[in-house]
Amino acid sequence: MNPFLELGIRHDIVNAITELGFEKPSPIQEKAIPVLLTGNDDFVGLAQTGTGKTAAFGLPLLEQLDFSSKQPQALVLCPTRELCLQIARDLEKFAKYIDNVHVVAVYGGANIGDQLRQIRRGVQIVVATPGRMLDIIGRNAIDFSNVRYVVLDEADEMLNMGFQEDINNILSETPDDKKTWLFSATMPKEVRRIAQNYMTNPQELTVGTKNTGNENIEHQYFMVKAKDKYAAFKRIVDFYPEIFGIVFCRTKIETQEIAEALIKDGYNADSLHGDLSQQQRDKVMKRYRERNLQLLIATDVAARGIDVNDVTHVINYSLPDETENYTHRSGRTARAGKTGISISLINAKEMSKIRHIEKINGKQFIPKQVPQGAEVCEKQLLALVDKVHNVEVHEDQINAFLPQILESLQDLSKEEVIKKFASLEFNRFLNYYQDAPDLNFDARDSRGERGDRSERRTGSKGYTRLFINLGSVDEFSRGDMLSYICNKGKISGKSVGKIDLKGVFTFFEVLDADVDSVFQGFKDVDFNGRNVRIEVSGDKPSSDRGGRRRSGGGGGDRRDRGGDRGSRGGSGRRDRGDRGDRGGSGFRDFSGKRRDRESKSRY
Ligand code: ADP
Repeated sequence: MNPFLELGIRHDIVNAITELGFEKPSPIQEKAIPVLLTGNDDFVGLAQTGTGKTAAFGLPLLEQLDFSSKQPQALVLCPTRELCLQIARDLEKFAKYIDNVHVVAVYGGANIGDQLRQIRRGVQIVVATPGRMLDIIGRNAIDFSNVRYVVLDEADEMLNMGFQEDINNILSETPDDKKTWLFSATMPKEVRRIAQNYMTNPQELTVGTKNTGNENIEHQYFMVKAKDKYAAFKRIVDFYPEIFGIVFCRTKIETQEIAEALIKDGYNADSLHGDLSQQQRDKVMKRYRERNLQLLIATDVAARGIDVNDVTHVINYSLPDETENYTHRSGRTARAGKTGISISLINAKEMSKIRHIEKINGKQFIPKQVPQGAEVCEKQLLALVDKVHNVEVHEDQINAFLPQILESLQDLSKEEVIKKFASLEFNRFLNYYQDAPDLNFDARDSRGERGDRSERRTGSKGYTRLFINLGSVDEFSRGDMLSYICNKGKISGKSVGKIDLKGVFTFFEVLDADVDSVFQGFKDVDFNGRNVRIEVSGDKPSSDRGGRRRSGGGGGDRRDRGGDRGSRGGSGRRDRGDRGDRGGSGFRDFSGKRRDRESKSRY
């Protein structure tokens, strides 16, 4: 017998969920459905996202509501519009073979008139985000007197988003004898308080360990220097050719900057943050959901409730300030029993944060090494071979050209043809990663024991490389340094090229035309009582330790210095323009543009 039937779900619902591929209940469904089907108790279910909570409460709701009436009988509150739509859609799918089921999704940012019309026509289940629900209640546009069940889904996220007050107000509009079912991934005291204040002796169920991240997630960290972070991030992305990931940043600005840099570098990425209109957010989410986007760069708040399946990687470009948010972030992968990887890019100082997360989550991080260029090449080559293997051949169309193709390739052996086709794509990777430096943090670096020999000492073409006697020990980030230079030197950010932040000093590139302005601006400038010194970086290599540079002309042998790849190989002058854009068919572009960007990257 079908295990859902055994749990007490009726045939027409089981038929619908069987079509959706539900063969057996997930653990939360197995435990919650029998309890909820009695309809007698309040309920608290602790389970991570992606564990099948929607069906855990949805199936018992469909079992118990009276669809001959058109009065609202169940209210489901959830944190985001995306989740709201998803739940409403899921419920409709579960109810495919039940007549007269009416579900309305009520959420902000959409036309309220349509939602009011649907409510007037009669609904039994209202799925809502708290803000819009309150708005509708305020208009006296809904009658909750027949509500028997209220579901609070992702309660912790709703509270994180500041919906506490709204939830209290909405609950007070519903009958006292209704049953409340609360689902949450974590149980902070605020959620506990709701359970205490609004529920009577709730039955409590936990799937997995309380406050524990999903067991199917592998947590990894990569330790890199701040200046290498963006390059390391891209290298990790390149190491996973099939990545479908969400990248978390701490601020809207960082989100925007990373997304823009990635797009410029030829990646298929976009950002999701609070400054976007609802319409823009929807568009981004639609593209991501449909897999037309490979990397979604998001802030914590914007990404709450994202319920896209098959996310392969969550990347913490910056660790969250709140440890709790790490759990929310990593929970976006490994949904529905799948596995996933949660990657954190950290600097040496952030190790304590990692230890703290480990303590809270009860799960260890695995330290990882940023892949070397050759490893990325190997991975990409194998992925390419796989792609060739699996590509669909449109026999009809290609047959017409085949004789011509065969003729022009007839002087090549099979092996040569294979090599050439593979090289067509692969050369870009080889070029890009040739001589790529090791990006892993080496403790010796911070002690100044390892000279960065891949660095050229002169500026890129059109730029002069300058030295300033301030650096990371003065608590400058690259961004801070950029603003400081622009501010004092009275130049625009566009005039500044690569910034190479060291401990007690920094090298930075300035357009030749603006060098005088920088010298002028930094005349007699003090920083915390220290005289700030600017010099043209000498053309003779000197120790990275001392920070004492000879002034020099800044001329000499200028070469393109790709930030990630270095340019030690002595290949002589490389012009940026001649690498040929590849015309954007794939998702990545390893053209000169990309390298150019990297060499000036400020992330
Ligand atoms: P949650 O609400 O816990 O975040 P969902 O209810 O959205 O999780 O379920 C996650 C995914 O797993 C959905 O795509 C859903 O269709 C699928 N799913 C849920 N229950 C089952 C099941 N018993 N068998 C197979 N797939 C399931």
